[in-house]
Amino acid sequence: MKKILIGTHNKGKFKEISYLISNKIKKISPQKLKIKSPKETGKTFSANAQLKVNYFSRFTSLPVISDDSGLCINALKGKPGIYSARWAKKYGSFSNAMRFILKKMKKKTNRSATFVCCLSLKYPKGKIITVTGQIKGSISHKILGNKGFGYDPIFIPHSESITFGQMPKSQKIKIDHRYIAFKKIKKRVKIF
Ligand code: IMP
Repeated sequence: MKKILIGTHNKGKFKEISYLISNKIKKISPQKLKIKSPKETGKTFSANAQLKVNYFSRFTSLPVISDDSGLCINALKGKPGIYSARWAKKYGSFSNAMRFILKKMKKKTNRSATFVCCLSLKYPKGKIITVTGQIKGSISHKILGNKGFGYDPIFIPHSESITFGQMPKSQKIKIDHRYIAFKKIKKRVKIF
């Protein structure tokens, strides 16, 4: 059976990426190989996705896929962006980070936002392929729903009237930024 290392410690991302990859491929987690996370020192999603895939590849001879993703809010000058996970740490939890965002957004009329995902794939000793997927939407006025992960409960994709947090996983996974990036990567490689 073919195997791939999904280079992330984020359970929500691991589940989503696993769901996208054929069930003929065995998905290995960094925890299974006792690999920690690298420091995200890049200034862009793309730089961080490549940094992660390079890092995890050092510990395995398997192909590796990693993502760097986040929520970019126009009225907050693109923040939290690459700092999306770090904001949750800074404010103590994702619920607190979402509350902070909603407070900052209270008087804003422009609630537009984009979820961005850069996916990088690296074959052993091979080159790295990096693609970007985006989904546009808006920030809700309240935290809505308890499905998904991260900032899902405050993001309403343009095509819908409910947040990602209110959507069944099977619906989110077919429209989100990770899915769009994955479709692009699938066009470029045979592995999946
Ligand atoms: P990083 O790529 O490890 O820096 O983490 C990205 C962070 O962005 C995650 O921890 C989530 O907070 C957020 N994020 C990325 N994709 C999603 C998503 O599909 N739903 C909700 N939050 C997301």
